[in-house]
Amino acid sequence: MKTHLVAALDAARALPATPAPDAILAEALRRLAGEAQRGLVGVLNGTGILLHTNLGRAPLAAAALDAIATTAGGASNVEYDLAAGARGSRYDRLGALLRAATGAQDALVVNNGAAAVLLALDTLARGPGGEPREVIVARNQLIEIGGGFRLPDVLARSGARLVEVGTTNKVRIDDYARALSPRTALLLRAHPSNFRLAGFTSEVGGAELAALGARAGVPVLEDLGSGALHDLREYGLPRERTVQDAVADGIDLIAFSGDKLLGGPQAGILVGRTAAVARVRTNPLLRALRVGAPTIAALGATLRLHLEPGGRERVPLYRMLAASPEALRARAEALRARLPGLDLRVVAVEGYVGGGTLPLAPLPSIALAWRPAGGGLDAALGRLRAGTPPLIARAEGDAVAIDVRTIPPERDGDLAALLEAAQ
Ligand SMILES: *Cc1c(COP(=O)(O)O)cnc(C)c1O
Repeated sequence: MKTHLVAALDAARALPATPAPDAILAEALRRLAGEAQRGLVGVLNGTGILLHTNLGRAPLAAAALDAIATTAGGASNVEYDLAAGARGSRYDRLGALLRAATGAQDALVVNNGAAAVLLALDTLARGPGGEPREVIVARNQLIEIGGGFRLPDVLARSGARLVEVGTTNKVRIDDYARALSPRTALLLRAHPSNFRLAGFTSEVGGAELAALGARAGVPVLEDLGSGALHDLREYGLPRERTVQDAVADGIDLIAFSGDKLLGGPQAGILVGRTAAVARVRTNPLLRALRVGAPTIAALGATLRLHLEPGGRERVPLYRMLAASPEALRARAEALRARLPGLDLRVVAVEGYVGGGTLPLAPLPSIALAWRPAGGGLDAALGRLRAGTPPLIARAEGDAVAIDVRTIPPERDGDLAALLEAAQ
């Protein structure tokens, strides 16, 4: 604070007229707040994108935060077997919960979804002696998930040879069958994540591919991406393939994220058959991708909420998904009534789940909007970002729009104060 006060005093001295002491102090606080924002700070997400990767994806449930405080606030049994009084495995702490939630035989948790895919490919794309082999993938699933993480490139790193089958739009089970050879180590299936093929297309189902793999004695890996545990049609969204679907199809190993449709902390989860998970557990790369105690605590609490009757409503992602446009409109109207001096409108907008999930499924939502005077749209968005806490809004035409779905209702007071200060 002292350096900010000195800087504010220097700035004041450079002015033709000396500002009042209060104004100098305010300037010093403004500089301090500006600096704080260059570190990690909490923000209000007014974008309407529920799992915004740049804004930290899924907000954690209160139970997950409590679990972090009670276990990571002191020592824990993160890598200690209490019954044996000896070293245990951190990767297996969530085994029972993940088996219960997904129906899989075994499970393992690493640092994020990309790490889970990397580890699974590095393990399974090899022969019995560890030598790289061939991996068969459909042409329409050779995806980049973002941030430059491209499946073909990750595969190349493991030394495996990629065997592409089918065409861009059509892939059949015979395409896979014809590509099988004694050199085949793995059949790979990947969720198209943030893109969709439409029109004259066909894909091979998980069960069909798992059956082919079982007949040929070749394991099947599925990069499922978002890891839904529930039928999303309940929320007016299209049905996403769930982890349970992939397990029931007989896929050997399934990779998904902890902070997408699970609504938990950043983590990568591998579930599947005992033999496949056991192979991954012996991969020395596992140590480099290890997960920390706070993540294990938060993921465990989130999984418990998914398993408890009615618990899902306490997962913030599902609370946001469950909010009806009517309820959102009522909140927005109440905020507008609270700020009679401002020229706010309540408008219908479209939000998205985000995080590379359901790219074509808009969520009907409600925003508070206004046209900044003089058309200074960027300046108005910038003023909101400079607030305490910063608010990330979006532009709708020439208006600023704040989608209320992604702002927790208990933060409406903060939102009102920010709007008052920024207009
Ligand atoms: C998001 C995603 C990943 C990566 O998961 P992160 O948790 O972001 O590392 C991998 N594959 C697919 C298909 C995805 O959608």
